[in-house]
Amino acid sequence: MSSIWHPFTQHGLQEPIPCVVRGDGAALHTANGRRVIDAISSWWVTTHGHAHPRIAAAIRDQAERLDQIIFAGWTHEPAEQVAAGLRAIMPPALTRVFFSDSGSTSVEVALKMALGYWLARGEARHRILVMEHGYHGDTIGAMSVGQRGVFNRAYAPLLFDVETIPYPAAGAEQTTLDALERACAAGAAAFIVEPLVLGAGGMLFYAPETLRRMRDICARHGVLFIADEVMTGWGRTGTLLACEQAGVVPDILCLSKGLTGGAVPLAVTMASEPIFEAHWSTDRARMFFHSSSYTANPIACAAAAANLAIWREEPVLERVRLLGERQAARLAALDGVRNPRRLGTIAAFEIGAGEGYLADIAPRLLAFFRERDVLLRPLGDTLYVMPPYCIDETDLDTVYAAVSEAIARNQ
Ligand SMILES: *Cc1c(COP(=O)(O)O)cnc(C)c1O
Repeated sequence: MSSIWHPFTQHGLQEPIPCVVRGDGAALHTANGRRVIDAISSWWVTTHGHAHPRIAAAIRDQAERLDQIIFAGWTHEPAEQVAAGLRAIMPPALTRVFFSDSGSTSVEVALKMALGYWLARGEARHRILVMEHGYHGDTIGAMSVGQRGVFNRAYAPLLFDVETIPYPAAGAEQTTLDALERACAAGAAAFIVEPLVLGAGGMLFYAPETLRRMRDICARHGVLFIADEVMTGWGRTGTLLACEQAGVVPDILCLSKGLTGGAVPLAVTMASEPIFEAHWSTDRARMFFHSSSYTANPIACAAAAANLAIWREEPVLERVRLLGERQAARLAALDGVRNPRRLGTIAAFEIGAGEGYLADIAPRLLAFFRERDVLLRPLGDTLYVMPPYCIDETDLDTVYAAVSEAIARNQ
């Protein structure tokens, strides 16, 4: 009996917990010799494939050179490479790179930067605007700006108040824009949003035009625009950033998951110059008070630098486009699903009658896919396929064959 307490796992249900010993490309290999297709990129992190040779080599080399160094007042080459690499491909207005360790902490950092900015400017702005169905992580601040529900009921008394803007469902965009306009006019520090796709909220899409208009509203009222591209970044939606599709540049950008190609944990929060300048002073009381022990860990940064090199030197967006086409063709051939949709490498749809996250159908599907050696993890009755960009036709066919069978059995 293992003593491990797993995340998002109800141990009382005694579901099997397979042990994975090796990964390569889109495949995971278990201790009992099964080859499992990773159709959700190990929870949305793996972009180029598992155990990517270039990233693995970078980690190995760096581990032998410099493993860890305090980052307050010190720097190192891998971190400088990552910062320079990001500056070269991210929007030029995002001039500053702050490191942390996970998507959740990149969001905490973004919120703290926004509040620090307003304090330095002497304006009493601290209200945060959020989008309905949003997800930004599981730490207290990240939960505060995310959708409330069964996930965070126990902690609700500790979560800070935010103002929630309705999700811009197709046809109801104006309601969202009007609500945002009113909330901004009333004064707010920042609006945090997942661009184009609300991931954990159920792979909900909305139009680039809406994103662009939301950004414009914030700009007009001086409300900082925080783009949480932790999931959507690194090609997931067909472009390096989802914001690109709307021609939008945020004031603050959160990146993690694919930042290291999905190999090791690392995150960055990129900020525009005015936000950095607001903290710039000879007064030590105004510095940015955030750090963690492993901020910009050199091994993690070496992995991120290797990821950036892959983006520079290999046709990643071409692979993304190809995977998108393959996904589209298979999605179009699926019968008996509701609301099939695709953006970039993400394909999603609903199955069954519609029961929400704790729908009985989810654990049944999970078990069904596990038996077929396909790693898919439904969000309630929403099923989505989001594989590493290297998945081949055969594996994708196997995934969709399992999906078709699951749908047929469920009818
Ligand atoms: C996964 C996710 C996070 C949290 O990232 P962690 O690394 O799991 O803390 C934040 N925002 C979005 C949009 C995410 O998808």
